[in-house]
Amino acid sequence: MSKFLYSRDLDFSSRGDIARIQGDFLKKHLSFCKMNSPYYKNLLNGIDLSGDIFEVLKKIPLTDKDVLTRHKGEFVAVAQDDIQDIVFSSGTTGEPLSIVYTATDLERLAYNELRTFLACGMRKSDRVLLTCTLDRCFIAGLAYFEGARAIGAATIRNGLNSMESHLEIIRRLKPTVLVGVPSFLKRLIEYLDSENTIPEHVRMLLCIGEPVRGLDLELNPLGHFLEKHWGAKVYSTYASSETITSFCDCESACGGHLLPELAVLEILDENAREVPCGEIGEVVVTPLQIEGMPLIRFRTGDISFKVDEPCSCGRNSLRLGPIIGRKQQMMKINGTTLYPQTVFTALEGIEGITDYYITAKRLEYGLSDYAEVHVALTNDLPDKESIVRKLAALTRVKLPVIIEPAEKVRAKIFSINSRKPVRFFDDTQSQQSEVL
Ligand SMILES: [Zn+2]
Repeated sequence: MSKFLYSRDLDFSSRGDIARIQGDFLKKHLSFCKMNSPYYKNLLNGIDLSGDIFEVLKKIPLTDKDVLTRHKGEFVAVAQDDIQDIVFSSGTTGEPLSIVYTATDLERLAYNELRTFLACGMRKSDRVLLTCTLDRCFIAGLAYFEGARAIGAATIRNGLNSMESHLEIIRRLKPTVLVGVPSFLKRLIEYLDSENTIPEHVRMLLCIGEPVRGLDLELNPLGHFLEKHWGAKVYSTYASSETITSFCDCESACGGHLLPELAVLEILDENAREVPCGEIGEVVVTPLQIEGMPLIRFRTGDISFKVDEPCSCGRNSLRLGPIIGRKQQMMKINGTTLYPQTVFTALEGIEGITDYYITAKRLEYGLSDYAEVHVALTNDLPDKESIVRKLAALTRVKLPVIIEPAEKVRAKIFSINSRKPVRFFDDTQSQQSEVL
């Protein structure tokens, strides 16, 4: 029997009880790492794990992708015989990082999604169309599949298939829930609309990989578009291959709840100091109850904030706000901090723009960075000036806009061998960054 048994009560327990149970799991996790992970055996040597375990955690150095790359192989904490699945995540040298999972890790993965999917309202009676890949050494698709299966819902694994194929599936199998990247779901509903298909049966969109909410936790323009045009409720879920713990909206849809028995969340500033709730910083996660490749204080490189106010759903767990950008993609333009994701979100809300990417040059010595926005349009509208104006209103930065033919933009964003379109090109670095 799985050691991960569903317990609704934990989320609804008092803050004190949640911290106590989370602390017990954290203690076990740190002891497991010290005992079984070659890297952490060395790192934790001399660190006393007794006393307030959350204070102990703060003393442990952070782990990031660079550390994973440099100490490749030292993070695997189990024997080869116990490994059941291997996936890739992007590394810091261009070579992908492999991440291993045991049978228990895969059970944990299913439990994690079961918990979050139930909280946002997925039911046994749902038919869930997955528009993300289950293969290509990618963990997320498998996670969603296992989560829906654990609930008892029917999954439809159409993956990264064509618009025509999704249209056919939607007409024939009438899914009630779609899981996918929001900008893709936007294009899909536009395509369905052009084919006179109204997907009335779709009641819920579970969005991955891109934010659908703003800093105020309200839907952003893309989120609004999806809710209006699909006629379905929009939810968001966030995780990474390294931490495999989801932060997913509950039915109140105002930030992703932390699963206290599966992770500890920190939001840190540039100097690795914890920032107060509501303030923006880097998302650092210690995933708990992991066997294959356990991590402590993993820097995700994603930028967001903690939400500490009580949630109207009644859960007392912490929440994570939307991911507003990647730390390594941060630009300073005329003194204003800007993440490419902020520009993407703004562009998704401007009618007539079909595709886009940003080219940037990061300048040293305190000078302003430089970025250009390249867009493709339907019917040559809106005009360049009005795009510049709308972007400035939404991002607080005036950026030059270049209008290009749709084929040129598509060729650029799909030019790199990536699982997702690449929309940010930094000319100051030799390698392009994969967008969230
Ligand atoms: Zn809630």
